[in-house]
Amino acid sequence: MLENKGKVYLLGAGPGDPGLLTLKARDLLSEAETVVYDYLANTRFLDFCRPDAELIYVGKQGGAHTLSQGAINDLLVAKAKSGKRVARLKGGDPYVFGRGAEEAEELLAAGVSFEVVPGVTSAVAGPAYAGIPLTHRQFASSVTLITGHEDPAKKESAHDWEALARSGSTLVFFMGVKNLELITDNLIKAGLAPETPAALVRWGTTCEQESLADTLSGITTLARSRNMKPPALLVVGQVVALRDKLNWFEQRPLLGKGVVVTRAREQASTLLRLLEDSGACCYEFPSIAIRSMPEYSRLHAAFERLDSYDWLIFTSVNGVRIFWKELRACGLDSRRLGGCSVAAIGPATAEALQKNGITPDFVPRRYVAEEVVQGLQELGVNKARILIPRAEQAREVLPEALQAAGAEVEVLPIYTTQPAEASGTEILERIAEGRVQFITFTSSSTVSNFFQLVSPGDLQAFVPGKVKLACIGPITGRTLESFGFQVDLQPEEYTIPALAQCLIHSSPPC
Ligand code: SAH
Repeated sequence: MLENKGKVYLLGAGPGDPGLLTLKARDLLSEAETVVYDYLANTRFLDFCRPDAELIYVGKQGGAHTLSQGAINDLLVAKAKSGKRVARLKGGDPYVFGRGAEEAEELLAAGVSFEVVPGVTSAVAGPAYAGIPLTHRQFASSVTLITGHEDPAKKESAHDWEALARSGSTLVFFMGVKNLELITDNLIKAGLAPETPAALVRWGTTCEQESLADTLSGITTLARSRNMKPPALLVVGQVVALRDKLNWFEQRPLLGKGVVVTRAREQASTLLRLLEDSGACCYEFPSIAIRSMPEYSRLHAAFERLDSYDWLIFTSVNGVRIFWKELRACGLDSRRLGGCSVAAIGPATAEALQKNGITPDFVPRRYVAEEVVQGLQELGVNKARILIPRAEQAREVLPEALQAAGAEVEVLPIYTTQPAEASGTEILERIAEGRVQFITFTSSSTVSNFFQLVSPGDLQAFVPGKVKLACIGPITGRTLESFGFQVDLQPEEYTIPALAQCLIHSSPPC
């Protein structure tokens, strides 16, 4: 637990892959009142922060400092002295070319207590994700971490190049892209064989990872021809030769592909996770936000007479989530559903029910309202009393068709969907920069909400061709068509995992 007194936590944010943040850093971030973070720290970590945390970006992109180191030190001291618990989040490890020690010394001098939480340094993780182990019994028994950021005009180099060349060590240079030629020349002049394998790893462990390998004498030309920019690491040594065999991460099918995920933030995680596991760079565009209803007296009354319904139909994960939240708030649990049959419109909804201990009696083979009606008709809905707790804005197809089949239907809105605050201009900018290859739509409302924020005319310029539009199913597809667009990708099965697969294959039948 954190103390009440002001204190600074120097936290390593890891190399970029959000999964490489330590548990300790995550816990401290979630408790901090002030968070001071750098350019290389993944901003997704800010989601762990308290909603009332003060977030301060202090930049530092290749020397373009938003705040000078002195000003950062002063800021940390001042915040801690005002009693704040400060998380100082730094890319990689704070003590590996991170100026963490300077900050710690300043804090000590100012009488501010501090702790260090080491992070996974990019020096280890970047090469590992590019298929380069830093040591290997056959090829290298030591590793040297070196700054490549020396001023080329300096007469005396801080490095003993002969010693580095002789060491047989794997050499990892940070901040070396600008001085690449100087570094490789110095190593060759100092006696390292020009044919020694060398690699550059850029944005290691992130969806933008790129690596390339050549010899020590060839790497500069190759890097120039590929327009390699910082942040990147230069790795020199025999271990680099293993990259051909061990380069696992760059095999991911969607690596570097940009995907706009238009789901409500509350439910974006499954699609996001599936796409990111395949290497995609996801841009969350939470085009709808789920909001509770102002009050739930109708739902609470329905809880009292659940036995009087024959069927309870859930149409979304959110519906299940909110239903059970209210059920629990009333001091009740799943046993209330003992007297009626339960249907789930899709597998994700069915899974959400399972998590609450309910195995649905009916899940349609395909996940559109029309099929649900047909399936329920087969089970006999004539004269059945049906309760459908769902979104306020849902389509009427399902209740109307059930009524037509002779059922007595009660629709109960238990949440509303609203366009979320999200910047349409930002997404259009990313599209214009060529960073977006797919836009995904997972319901009709994600389509209409998307086009409330992005004008169809603006998007037209990029389709077809640059950007592919993917829809979860035909109803969503029809809504997209009503805005004047064609559906490029649609899975055969209307589920989130099938949609993700569709993007991965990006070819028919999708
Ligand atoms: N403390 C950090 C290093 C900060 S110095 C760490 O432990 O990783 C900044 C340099 O680190 C960059 O110029 C680049 O050389 C390297 N770097 C940081 N993150 C990187 C990444 N994801 N991929 C490649 N290089 C990275």
